[in-house]
Amino acid sequence: MSSFTYQFDTPSYKGTSTVSTGLFINGKFVEPVEKGTIEVVNPVNGKVITSVAAGTAADIDIAARAARKAYKERWGLKVPGVQRGRMLNKLADLLEANADEFAALEALDVGKAFRVARNGDMSGSIAALRYYAGWADKIQGKTIETNAKKLAYTRHEPVGVVGAIVPWNFPLTMLSFKIGPALAAGNAVIVKPSELTPLTALRLCPLFVEAGFPDGVINVVNGYGSTAGQALSEHMAVDKITFTGSTLTGRKIMETASKTNLKKVTLELGGKSPSVIFDDVDLEQTVKWVSHGIFMNHGQACTAGSRIFVQAGIYDRFLKAFTEHASSLKVGDPFARDTYQGPQISQTQFERIMGYIKSGKEEGATVHIGGERHGNEGYFIQPTIFTECKPNMKIVQEEIFGPVAAIIKFATEEEAIEQANNTVYGLACSVFTRDIDRAIRVAHSIEAGTAWINCHNSSELSVPFGGFKQSGIGRELGEYALEHYTNLKAVHVNIGHRL
Ligand code: NDP
Repeated sequence: MSSFTYQFDTPSYKGTSTVSTGLFINGKFVEPVEKGTIEVVNPVNGKVITSVAAGTAADIDIAARAARKAYKERWGLKVPGVQRGRMLNKLADLLEANADEFAALEALDVGKAFRVARNGDMSGSIAALRYYAGWADKIQGKTIETNAKKLAYTRHEPVGVVGAIVPWNFPLTMLSFKIGPALAAGNAVIVKPSELTPLTALRLCPLFVEAGFPDGVINVVNGYGSTAGQALSEHMAVDKITFTGSTLTGRKIMETASKTNLKKVTLELGGKSPSVIFDDVDLEQTVKWVSHGIFMNHGQACTAGSRIFVQAGIYDRFLKAFTEHASSLKVGDPFARDTYQGPQISQTQFERIMGYIKSGKEEGATVHIGGERHGNEGYFIQPTIFTECKPNMKIVQEEIFGPVAAIIKFATEEEAIEQANNTVYGLACSVFTRDIDRAIRVAHSIEAGTAWINCHNSSELSVPFGGFKQSGIGRELGEYALEHYTNLKAVHVNIGHRL
């Protein structure tokens, strides 16, 4: 089986990583049926790092059969929750033992700073696996009081085979957020990583075996969205799709599910999240959180606080401090110790973001800072702040998914709420004020699945996450996510009612 070895000799990490580049089906790496490959590109310089196998519908079919067989014969409720939890904990331990190597692979493949990959992505992935390991033996039904001749109770049974379609912005973290609850609840899984960022998912496969998961319980099939992803959402033996990505692809998946076996679908989609800043804020802290809100992960976050509403009384002071902060963010080599922002993921995303910057200028917004490419190779873009933004501009309405903030001045609380809700999305929002009554009032008034008060992009594994409106369906994280990975069965036991 082909593999890829990379020697890291960087200021942040030195070491070697070897990754098998096939498809991981039924507990081992195999070649794809159609023998296709996908080039994996380094976003720092646009050069090819390696090629990995490209799975197609034929491979998805093999994986789905393997997963179903495993689910029926050696997984699901045949394996008690306590054992499923033990395996998830072991997987977390193995990942933790190799966390630096995984972080280096993620930094190489995605272009995010090594420090961020290690302290954010890897720590979050490990913690998510442990969190759901803890749930595996606590998924319980209820007994329901009816009458003296009836015992009624509920069971939360696994759904069966889950297809997990993972995006490129947080490859291993999103994978963990999906396989954690799926496996804890007793489902078998087929993971389809993003074609752009397959390396950490592939490196994880040997750890599944070492952690003790039976063959076929977790499969990883790389491939293009339009082939492998589409085949996964069509497959009649797949009972559920959990997807994170664009609203456009989410729509396609839902349509496909409705035309095939009505598989369950949870969708975590786009956003255009507002940050609302009132006159009375702690300016220094607000600037830091708002910057983290929009510039974290190079702006490639579904929760990015890309519309920043600032009350007139603090507007000038905020803009000055925010500009100084954004200008201080170091853009560059992901393995340099002081880098905050690496490149965007791909040429396509680079061009899309630069297209939005161009449209902002054409529609009359002002580039306050940034607005240009950073350097002359790879996909780097300067942290960008637009002022003089109007509600109908594309940069205010559409998800840019890059380091681009639109600042809008407002006068009253009512006006801020109305503008914040003027979007098809409803993933997240943040409110900054020292007035607790107003903070809660505004947080409750904005149509979003997450409302942060005096912070942004500050999530917890135990707290549900997902969208209102066109930002998605269902919830990830917390106990709530488990609802989407189980089927609820009601059992009626007749204890003496004679006909
Ligand atoms: P996509 O939604 O196309 O990709 C996300 C995942 O879906 C990838 O694994 C992709 O595979 C897969 N996919 C694509 N088409 C299909 C399909 N027909 N059926 C099943 N799976 C499919 O996002 P893009 O990468 O094209 O990015 C475009 C925009 O999407 C971004 O600018 C951003 O706005 C948004 N996005 C949002 C994310 C979020 O966190 N909510 C994450 C990523 C993107 P493949 O990579 O092989 O095409």
